Amino acid sequence: MKRTKHIMLIAAMSAPCVFCASANADDIIKVRVSYKVVVNPVDGTRPPGVNDADIDAAVEGMNAIMETFGRGYRFVRTGALIDIGGIGGFFRPNPSYYYGNGFADTQDRANIESDAVANKSLYAWNDNAINLFVISGGGISFDIGGNEPGQALIVISSGADAKGKTAIHEIGHYMGLCHTQGCSCGSCAGGGCIIPEDDRISDTLPDLECWDQDLIATFNFGVGYSSLTPGQQTRVDNVFFNVMSYHGEDQAGDNYHTRETELQLDEWVDKASSSHAADCDGITYFVDATNNGIQTGTSELPLRTVAKGLNFANGGGNIVLVRPGNYPENLHITSPVTLRVPRTGKVTIGSHH
Ligand SMILES: [Zn+2]
Repeated sequence: MKRTKHIMLIAAMSAPCVFCASANADDIIKVRVSYKVVVNPVDGTRPPGVNDADIDAAVEGMNAIMETFGRGYRFVRTGALIDIGGIGGFFRPNPSYYYGNGFADTQDRANIESDAVANKSLYAWNDNAINLFVISGGGISFDIGGNEPGQALIVISSGADAKGKTAIHEIGHYMGLCHTQGCSCGSCAGGGCIIPEDDRISDTLPDLECWDQDLIATFNFGVGYSSLTPGQQTRVDNVFFNVMSYHGEDQAGDNYHTRETELQLDEWVDKASSSHAADCDGITYFVDATNNGIQTGTSELPLRTVAKGLNFANGGGNIVLVRPGNYPENLHITSPVTLRVPRTGKVTIGSHH
């Protein structure tokens, strides 16, 4: 990989950009995605509408969303769409057994993962990528075992949105995120959730699948959406349009499933830098001047100084994410590195203010 001998401070959104250099491939961490398509066991054909061009379009759409997150991560396909299974593959472990599977039986969800891991060549398994399997049908998507390195897969349907907007949701699970309505909570309908559950993320508001913006506002702030301050409306919108929500499932609209909060992104980045580091070509080290405790470089145990962040990153295509604050440090930078700041807040490095 080509490297440049200068420092790049990439500031996202409204944050100021200091020492900005022209962007190049070193500014981002690539997350490899390997798309497979399960073919029909009757005639060996792919589900309708699944081809390389539309997977490319889906990944491009995912990356447009990733760009707004400001963390420097982008998805990159490992190669062309791979056909798996074949004519006559009606029985496990042949991948075509799962071609039209609705996965209503949760045992089938576990089975496809164990079949794939036990038969890696049959499933075109890639140990250094997120493995996505496209099957026939319009409704199913799920992630399995997102905390097991190298042993997690994502199944998505062949529908128009599924390969992109659903995939980014499932990758959210893969990277440790729960639904905004709670970790075991899905739809409100049919005896589902009627009380918001904890999603383990403290900057997302309590949410339910069946709520609109007014109901989220009323539950959390006691008044309707139009009576909220702009900051409160943003917090409602951050949930309502969240990648990890169920809002807008059956509705067109580019705003649905486009947002993640800073603390959701912290969790995502931590997973991408630890249990799923094999899928990525770099990792992120967090720096926070307020941490006086143990320092490992994760979002929860960040390093205290930028100098320590640079030392840990040690070039290597890694990112040092500096949280807002003052860092009165004299830095000597001798290897290529990317410094980033979150989307809001200000970072001052050195003695000038
Ligand atoms: Zn989900």
